[in-house]
Amino acid sequence: MPITPLSNQELAPLLAQLPSPCYVVDLDRLEENLEILSRVQREAGCKILLAQKAFSFPEVYPQIARHLAGTTASGLYEARLGYEEMPGKEVHVYKPAYLPGEVEELCRIAGHIIFNSFSQWERYRGVVRSSPRKVSCGLRVNPECSTQEGHAIYDPCAPGSRLGITEKAFRPELLEGIEGLHMHTLCEQGADALAATLPAFEEKFGQYLYGMKWLNLGGGHHITRPGYDIPLLIREVKRLREKYDVEVYLEPGEAVALNAGFLSCRVLDIVENGISAAIVDTSAACHMPDVLEMPYRPQIIGSGEPGEKPYTYRLGGPTCLAGDIIGDYSFDQPLVPGSQLIFTDMAIYSFCKNNTFNGMPLPALGTVSREGGVKLVKTFGYENFKTRLGKD
Ligand SMILES: *Cc1c(COP(=O)(O)O)cnc(C)c1O
Repeated sequence: MPITPLSNQELAPLLAQLPSPCYVVDLDRLEENLEILSRVQREAGCKILLAQKAFSFPEVYPQIARHLAGTTASGLYEARLGYEEMPGKEVHVYKPAYLPGEVEELCRIAGHIIFNSFSQWERYRGVVRSSPRKVSCGLRVNPECSTQEGHAIYDPCAPGSRLGITEKAFRPELLEGIEGLHMHTLCEQGADALAATLPAFEEKFGQYLYGMKWLNLGGGHHITRPGYDIPLLIREVKRLREKYDVEVYLEPGEAVALNAGFLSCRVLDIVENGISAAIVDTSAACHMPDVLEMPYRPQIIGSGEPGEKPYTYRLGGPTCLAGDIIGDYSFDQPLVPGSQLIFTDMAIYSFCKNNTFNGMPLPALGTVSREGGVKLVKTFGYENFKTRLGKD
């Protein structure tokens, strides 16, 4: 029996039992996403990996492992996390350039290692060949086909990109030992963007795929977003599998935990300066860096656009950074010190990017579900701040 996730009204009193601020992963919403991804795996005949860059939360890895094929990593630490916390599942890793000694270590835990250039492959192929464990090696290619506007920092196909081998830099004479190709060009995009990219990829690199074992289509597939064209994704994956006789991998990060987490916080003070500014106990700069980097305006349960409801506030963090501003929101009731606010879609690219700038405490981590209620997973303290600064 599928479980209906807790409604926003049901969530607020539960989250209020946790420390503030606290990230809370909703296990029922996570399960809904995982069921969609399971269906894609089944119907397309592909394998899906969790990209840990977006969401690294070992507490829920057993749940993810019940659905997905394993994890992908951006280097040794994430690879170790996937290896240790999803035992028996696949470990893939791609890094733009490996550190000295990193590939030796990875050979002990990763089944698939992807290189970003032929020079990296030439440097490390001996290490992989002499590894007692069998490791399947691949190359990341750059089809030079941008399908996104606006977010240049998330476009690996932008001119001058260091990510992936271009057609011009491709050296077919060095392919011996390479078993797969990898491409990652999308960010929060639909299956139409994938379908638009594949002709560029196939025209430039398809000829090399015959005889290889796998093709990894990277992340950025917003599969669990309402309105995503899942049948189109399935058709394209099936077509690639049949045409090239390869195993196809997808490695979404966002789609795994999209809309499956919250950041619960409280108002500390209200100050007036032409506008009403609410200072909260969480920070854009420390706890939701994508709000400043991307940038975007996160949603708050029960809030409206500025001016839409009677009481409008500019929300900012308690750091000394003037630009530590989350956004402008309106509410039905005035905010007062102690008011609880719940940001939505805060599982991804959130606590895995946290920092302790300005001595900000790290928010606690928890889970919530209809059956299990709330669970406090971890709290952090002064020690976590001090040790990062070099003092034990
Ligand atoms: C960031 C990244 C992903 C995950 O991307 P999402 O946008 O979170 O789905 C997958 N693969 C690679 C190589 C990445 O850099």
